[in-house]
Amino acid sequence: MHDAASPFTAPAMAPASATASAPVMETFASIQGEGLYVGEPQVFLRLRGCPLRCRWCDTPGSWALTRGSALTPFQAACKVAQAEADRGPWTVSVTGGEPLMWPDFVAGLAPFLRPRRIHLETSGLFPSSLERVLSAVDHVSLDLKLDQDLNPPVPLDVPHLESAPHGPQATSAARRASLELVRSKDACAKLIVSGGRALHEFEPLVEDVVELAPNLMLVVQPVTPMHGVSAPEPALLLDLAGLARRAGLGVRVLPQIHRGLGLA
Ligand code: SF4
Repeated sequence: MHDAASPFTAPAMAPASATASAPVMETFASIQGEGLYVGEPQVFLRLRGCPLRCRWCDTPGSWALTRGSALTPFQAACKVAQAEADRGPWTVSVTGGEPLMWPDFVAGLAPFLRPRRIHLETSGLFPSSLERVLSAVDHVSLDLKLDQDLNPPVPLDVPHLESAPHGPQATSAARRASLELVRSKDACAKLIVSGGRALHEFEPLVEDVVELAPNLMLVVQPVTPMHGVSAPEPALLLDLAGLARRAGLGVRVLPQIHRGLGLA
């Protein structure tokens, strides 16, 4: 069921423009705790809304939409400047939730945020929306998710959003299309590893990177144990690193460092 009175613009309803809006959950300065730019001071622009249900999601509070939180790119850029205080300009990490629920908004940020770099953190499962924002972002951090780690998606109550893939075939097709899109981009592929997993489960994901985007750095990220999800065996991290290296990929094994620093 769709709500015709939704305050949020959606991909098929309006062209990318400065008037596109998105539900902003929070804007804050911190240290990038994951991926290729780990350790870099950044401002995080977290958007609400995600139809996926990763077993190990560390921001379930971002899944649902709330009324009254929609901002335009200009309004969001003002929030970024406030978060920087007099320390900027910093790179802006657009995160979520799944920011690709709001491609017009993401594509509309650049004129208001430059000269800052704009980084996008995405599940990697919404290739049509990713294609629409690629030229407006400087870096893409793209998750590689095991289908076994995805509970059934819950569609957002907004018309014309790109549908979340469901099931191994659809998930694989979306991941592969996303990898092809970022193959020549400043980007990394992030493999989230939780407890109870085995090496062979990750082989198809690593093979996709080798085939479709071999220049990407593979970041192996053990989950931070929370909400009943356990950390992986250390040996599995080494085995994954070995698998990637043998396949010719650059690889890093990194936990979420911002949590160790006590930062958001
Ligand atoms: S895509 Fe991100 S926000 Fe959505 S459920 Fe997965 S980890 Fe959580």
